[in-house]
Amino acid sequence: MSETVTGKIRKVSGPLVVATGMKDAKIFDVVQVADQKLIGEIIELEGDVASIQVYEETSGLTPGQPVVSTGLPLSVELGPGLLDSIYDGIQRPLQEIEKAAGGPFITRGLEVPKLDRSKKWSFEPVAQEGDEVKEGDILGTVQETELIQHKVMVPPGMAGTVKSLKAGEFTIEETVAVIATEKGEKEVQMLQYWPIRRPRPVQNKQVPTVPHATGWRVLDTLFPIAKGGVGAIPGPFGAGKSVTQQALAKYMDAQVIVYIGCGERGNEMTDMLIELPELEDPETGKPLMQRTVMIANTSNMPVAAREASIYTGITIAEYYRDMGYSVALMADSTSRWAEALREMSGRLEEMPGEEGYPAYLGSRTAAFYERGGIVTCLGSDDRQGSLALVGAVSPPGGDFSEPVTQNTLRVVKVFWALDADLAAARHYPSINWLNSYSLYSKQLEGWMNENVGSDWSEMRNRMMDLLQKEGQLQEIVRLVGFDALSGEEQHILETARTIREDFLQQNAFDDIDAFTSHAKQYEMMRAIDTFYVNGTKAIERGVAPKDVFEIEVRQEIARMKGVEETKLEELKTVADKIGAAIDALQATE
Ligand code: ADP
Ligand code: MG
Repeated sequence: MSETVTGKIRKVSGPLVVATGMKDAKIFDVVQVADQKLIGEIIELEGDVASIQVYEETSGLTPGQPVVSTGLPLSVELGPGLLDSIYDGIQRPLQEIEKAAGGPFITRGLEVPKLDRSKKWSFEPVAQEGDEVKEGDILGTVQETELIQHKVMVPPGMAGTVKSLKAGEFTIEETVAVIATEKGEKEVQMLQYWPIRRPRPVQNKQVPTVPHATGWRVLDTLFPIAKGGVGAIPGPFGAGKSVTQQALAKYMDAQVIVYIGCGERGNEMTDMLIELPELEDPETGKPLMQRTVMIANTSNMPVAAREASIYTGITIAEYYRDMGYSVALMADSTSRWAEALREMSGRLEEMPGEEGYPAYLGSRTAAFYERGGIVTCLGSDDRQGSLALVGAVSPPGGDFSEPVTQNTLRVVKVFWALDADLAAARHYPSINWLNSYSLYSKQLEGWMNENVGSDWSEMRNRMMDLLQKEGQLQEIVRLVGFDALSGEEQHILETARTIREDFLQQNAFDDIDAFTSHAKQYEMMRAIDTFYVNGTKAIERGVAPKDVFEIEVRQEIARMKGVEETKLEELKTVADKIGAAIDALQATE
């Protein structure tokens, strides 16, 4: 424990407080400001002058009031009880705070424990007394929720012999293990701490090769994200960023979800807060909240806490990754986070970079996305964990050339570009297939071909190719009309329309259509691909293009999205029916 330092407020400027007498404090120390003990963090230190970003409303603070540094960096509490929680940007539990404050407004300086101190958890030892253990080794487990077993790990930096290990019911503050280390005996509790701005250590990172299923056809088939992958969803207001992020939180096949509502309007987050607890895990029927941690720092909450919310969320996500889980984090929106950075930078009177954002916007953005990945966790069992990151980006006016989008583009591997025109045309999800990309596509092909269908990638690439050709052919149609195209070209346009309407369009609010498994996506793709491939052959042998376009069974393609996953066998017949119908068509001449 370091010494506390007490200084005095010199100046208050919105979320920024400048204090003197802070010579012995450290950068990034947490401080308590004024008698209300508002929580802040030293973000700049020059001589004895500290610049402090304060995570609570600063109105009413005056020069001369005390500032006390705690000597500790801003940290999260880690342990059982995180799941099924809703926190603010600095991990204060929102429901508990409401109860303590007697209303929905957070009373300032209110100290509410981040994790429940009184609850007893049933700790089952995994290690044994006498075992040699090192950092990351699993000492025991706790059934945190019905969906997730919590692993209590040897904290990073600790190694030694297990001197004693308990079994039974304990609170998170009670000692469950004693480890004899080189530096003496260390007691281990379920409650552990980690500074939010420092990535949690791992053994090493690997190249992602396994896809995350999201249930959205345009994502899984055309622009897939990998376990441990990093992606962004840029788009103008109303294009579908939040709908996409929330669909991911519901349907993505990650074991643990961390959802950060960062600076968006409160009512949007409220929808999510009401809806999610009612939703069930499709596989187990248990409430989805049992695998979810929510961080809510909406636009009406203090701007500095918005900056911290991203780090609070990612540190919790890393902690579950370290247990060996596949974790996915959504942040809606990283633009609001960048705006918080810009505001603090402006108040610090730093030299502004592009559009007033600080020069370090790029490095901070990169540092955030670098915390994603698929890793070998610390621990002797070399278990694997993954953390996928998906950030929404809200460029003003939907202009992708602005700094936040550009800095994000540089580091993410998946870019799901939402498009105002598609949204206006009610093509949902309005993900533009010509601007979007996934740098994981190639890496994931092997897995898809092996696990879903051996011709998956061949069909996927043909689909992508047709969509690109459609773009070019539409130019020609605009100039000379549809009839001027060859039969084969007309068929490309017909197939591309089917791809757009019957495959890419997906209604997030329809019970069946909201989620499509890989297996169903494959059957849908096969039906469309057969229509294209057999149709092209028919036209080549002299069948009238119109006869191909108008075959009766083509309607079945459009109906596929509405067919339940349980009726997959039925869907498997569609491609064959289409193939047979087209092959039976007679040439006209
Ligand atoms: P953003 O977060 O980009 O501002 P939203 O995600 O809130 O936009 O989407 C705005 C509206 O667009 C939604 O309320 C919904 O009506 C519609 N929408 C967006 N995506 C979809 C989708 N995949 N399916 C159906 N409707 C959608
Ligand atoms: Mg939104």
